[in-house]
Amino acid sequence: MRELQRHRVYDLLKKDSSHLLGKEVNIKGWVRTRRGSKHVAFIAVNDGSIIHSIQVVVDIQAFKDEEVLRNITTGACISVNGTLVESKGKGQAVEIKATKIFLYGAADPEKYPLQKKGHTLEFLREIAHLRPRTNTFGAIFRIRHALSFAIHKFFNDNGFFYLHTPIITGSDAEGAGAMFRVTTLDMKNPPFTKEGEVDFSKDFFGKETNLTVSGQLEGELGALALSNIYTFGPTFRAENSHTSRHLSEFWMIEPEMAFYDIHDNMDLAESFLKYLIRYLLDHCTDDLEFLQKMYDKGLTERLHMIVDNEFKRLTYTQAIEILEGSGQAFEFPVSWGVDLQSEHERYLVEKEFGCPVILTDYPRQIKAFYMKLNDDGNTVRAMDVLFPKIGEIVGGSQREENYEKLHGRIREMGIHEEEVWWYLETRKFGTAPHSGFGLGFERLMLFVTGMGNIRDVIPFPRAPQNADF
Ligand code: ATP
Ligand code: MN
Repeated sequence: MRELQRHRVYDLLKKDSSHLLGKEVNIKGWVRTRRGSKHVAFIAVNDGSIIHSIQVVVDIQAFKDEEVLRNITTGACISVNGTLVESKGKGQAVEIKATKIFLYGAADPEKYPLQKKGHTLEFLREIAHLRPRTNTFGAIFRIRHALSFAIHKFFNDNGFFYLHTPIITGSDAEGAGAMFRVTTLDMKNPPFTKEGEVDFSKDFFGKETNLTVSGQLEGELGALALSNIYTFGPTFRAENSHTSRHLSEFWMIEPEMAFYDIHDNMDLAESFLKYLIRYLLDHCTDDLEFLQKMYDKGLTERLHMIVDNEFKRLTYTQAIEILEGSGQAFEFPVSWGVDLQSEHERYLVEKEFGCPVILTDYPRQIKAFYMKLNDDGNTVRAMDVLFPKIGEIVGGSQREENYEKLHGRIREMGIHEEEVWWYLETRKFGTAPHSGFGLGFERLMLFVTGMGNIRDVIPFPRAPQNADF
């Protein structure tokens, strides 16, 4: 078989391929469907470059290779040489009249799990090794790529440096959640101290270590030298939560900016989120259309709601007044001092304002130690961005840059000083006002894909009792 240059299906269907009409082309990919008659076979081939499959037409009488033809069933992988022609059928501009087909790998129709269409998402989660071959997961993983790329592009174009914070950490100061222990100690026979406790000084790092729950504290160290940095990496939480919004391993984006106050921080979060969603509307149109049709009729309308509106900004205290006066029967009652639940957040966004909302100045008791204390002594310079359908999507704050105040908060909250001495030192030497926020990547993926379960927006979800693939 003469080696032709391979074309991606994307190139043939999405780019102008008119100069190739009547010429011989090659495509490679997986058979999605095969239909036809005794005389002609129509094979839909998908190579993952685009949601659409290209139609390959085979004149069965003229086609010599019966062995190959017999094995062209859903899931088989083939390489096709043929003439690119305008399509007579609906739905595609061009198709390929096959002259030669090479079979890379058959997929026994009796056994191939994706032989039939219409599997549930639950079933597909059990075959995470094959689900990328469905239209749904192809669309999701292409969007996941585009979103990651847009994140790097946004920061790069705006003068931020990508800082790699550690995945293995020796500190538990962030307090964001239960952690996964990292150890090389012999679990059956660990060393003990005189007091009868496991002796971690004998462990690999000479101390207790865990997988990180956040890169923020290290990110701040970077910002207090490089001015604007961001992290984008995996984080781990050993919480036994079986919800549709929690993973044990998820990705987080955490920008930190020196010389930003809370207003600069809000401006950045708003323009960042709008940029990302606009990027997807511009670059992932076909995949979004597919997801809208199949899963979420309101998807693009909701995405436009983000890019077309100014985010409404108000304080936590004002929000509580609105919620108390709403006459709404919430599952969790509201009063000043409580942490807002997503039902409250969604009420503000969906019912009260009809646009994204940014709440600021939360009670100090419900927020982390590093947030800057307001002059009232009761509230901190926190800011949460609230979206329709999910509630909080971004959480951030202006950071406490005053050594005494930060030190006081650390003591008050019972954080071991010897774990954060390095963090405190940045407030001792050349401290500066600074701010930052965190965005859970998969939460944003849920929003932009319209999917309902966080396990369906990451290729290989890690969750309690679930690390098979
Ligand atoms: P939640 O209340 O939803 O558990 P959190 O308050 O624990 O969130 P943070 O500690 O503020 O969350 O983490 C920052 C961001 O990371 C959150 O806004 C959210 O987008 C995301 N996030 C937190 N926990 C998880 C998880 N288990 N799986 C996926 N994303 C998460
Ligand atoms: Mn949590």
